[in-house]
Amino acid sequence: MGNLTYTRLIAIDAEHPDPETIQLAAEQVQKGGLVAFPTETVYGLGANALDASAIGKIYSAKGRPSNNPLIAHIATLEQIEQVAVDIPETAYQLAAYFWPGPLTLVLPRHERVPDVASAGRDTVAVRFPAHPVARALIKAAGVPIVAPSANRFTRPSATTAQHVLADLNGRVDIILDGGPTHIGVESTVLDLTAPTPIVLRPGGVTLEALQTVLPEILAPAQHVPMDDAEARPASPGMLIKHYSPNAEVLVFDGEAEAVTRRMRETASQRMADGQRVGLLLTDEDRPAFADLPVVVQPLGAAHDLAHIAQQLFAGLRALDAQQVDVILARQFPAEGMGRAIADRLLRAAEGRVIEVE
Ligand code: AMP
Ligand code: MG
Repeated sequence: MGNLTYTRLIAIDAEHPDPETIQLAAEQVQKGGLVAFPTETVYGLGANALDASAIGKIYSAKGRPSNNPLIAHIATLEQIEQVAVDIPETAYQLAAYFWPGPLTLVLPRHERVPDVASAGRDTVAVRFPAHPVARALIKAAGVPIVAPSANRFTRPSATTAQHVLADLNGRVDIILDGGPTHIGVESTVLDLTAPTPIVLRPGGVTLEALQTVLPEILAPAQHVPMDDAEARPASPGMLIKHYSPNAEVLVFDGEAEAVTRRMRETASQRMADGQRVGLLLTDEDRPAFADLPVVVQPLGAAHDLAHIAQQLFAGLRALDAQQVDVILARQFPAEGMGRAIADRLLRAAEGRVIEVE
């Protein structure tokens, strides 16, 4: 995939970003380059949203198929009019509650946003991120910035600058290192162009919270399989292979005790086959596996879904770094933040959720 560039990794204060560093990164965006930067959800791989050739570089850097549209990031509410048209009143109602923050709105696309940004759709996804580095960068660039997650296609999203470097070294001009991201899963994508607003991807804002503002919002639909050549996914987050570590991932769902038993059996079988087994475990689950020679990646307390979301992608990458062959995890109930966690686990497992009787 030629065209390697020199990647500069630059540390930046997450709360009070240094203006000179922001200026340097903003100029790179204005020149048509790629800048990876922290947001409150995950790291983004940014380019000028109004520059078709810069946007093309995002797709080749990620190895992402060009039928997957990108999110345009803005730094003020007014900027929404630079990327979208016919903006419904509901967008402003939701923005008043959730912007800046981890909510992406799909709206009718403004003609100045190039086709390639939204993969030829007549819609555009828009988000106003809360992270001070993201906001400062977009402001300084003076243009909206399209930024998918800063990982190679199908890999777990990057929640640290080191993850970005591991996936994209030589493919991005600058990585702004603002430390680990707080939320750890991507934004919630809400389609406001559908007859009834519908969540396309569960994420950092829960469905329950959205419904307090707009009760009619529909829950996400089921995924489409990736190997359907005709499929033009409503949303790339809906692909069944996504967020995948190198190891095989198996997710177990069902009654708690039965799942524990099945996970122990599966771990033992895989080890008997000579495999190295990794487990993603909550604190509550750890004692049940303490006697097994497995690699444990702790997720923290089961009730602390915000922390689990924050740890999830880093946990998958950490188990890869320990060269496990297979990763076992218990599925989370799809409620509140659990909906985004369950979605990412399902896709990390490429749909291999084992229903335990
Ligand atoms: P990522 O590249 O990881 O930030 O994911 C981009 C997300 O943006 C996808 O999961 C889609 O849900 C969403 N997206 C972007 N543009 C559109 C659009 N025009 N219509 C529907 N979904 C979109
Ligand atoms: Mg992504």
